[in-house]
Amino acid sequence: MSEVHKKYMQLAIKEAEKALVDGVLPVGAIVVGDGKVVGRGRRRAGDHPYLDHAEIGAMREALQTASNSTEGPMLTLYSTLEPCLMCFATALNTRRIGNIIYAVEDPYGGGTSLPQSVLTPRYKEWYPKAQGGVMREEVIKLLRKFFMATNDPYWANPENPLRKLAENR
Ligand SMILES: [Zn+2]
Repeated sequence: MSEVHKKYMQLAIKEAEKALVDGVLPVGAIVVGDGKVVGRGRRRAGDHPYLDHAEIGAMREALQTASNSTEGPMLTLYSTLEPCLMCFATALNTRRIGNIIYAVEDPYGGGTSLPQSVLTPRYKEWYPKAQGGVMREEVIKLLRKFFMATNDPYWANPENPLRKLAENR
């Protein structure tokens, strides 16, 4: 495993740990460009669960703080959980994210396996490479802590595939 990926994933995990303290699904994200962290995000209590994802927050900050939003270095998005379809599509739409590195695959809502062949030209051209498995076990432990403690009705179904993965069933 790349030490660089591990270093940045540790920062994403720090964000996810803050989300866990907030009582929400622990997901943290970091955006890196030219060897610098240019964006951070996490799930927060009170955020809209369908819109305000960790990756969106990190990409928003990155595109505000990067030299400018349309030109500059290719960015890498690190997330503790495989980005959902919305976040993956947002990464394509920014035309700046070249790589997506995540810790744990999301068998419930993961969206990075959208086949490039079905996309229209704008998205095909900027299709980022996605790779999982960086610090996977550490993040599974974090997700397990959340599922053991949560009363959130959204996650109540014991057969939810992400819950089953986290609980090692
Ligand atoms: Zn998302």
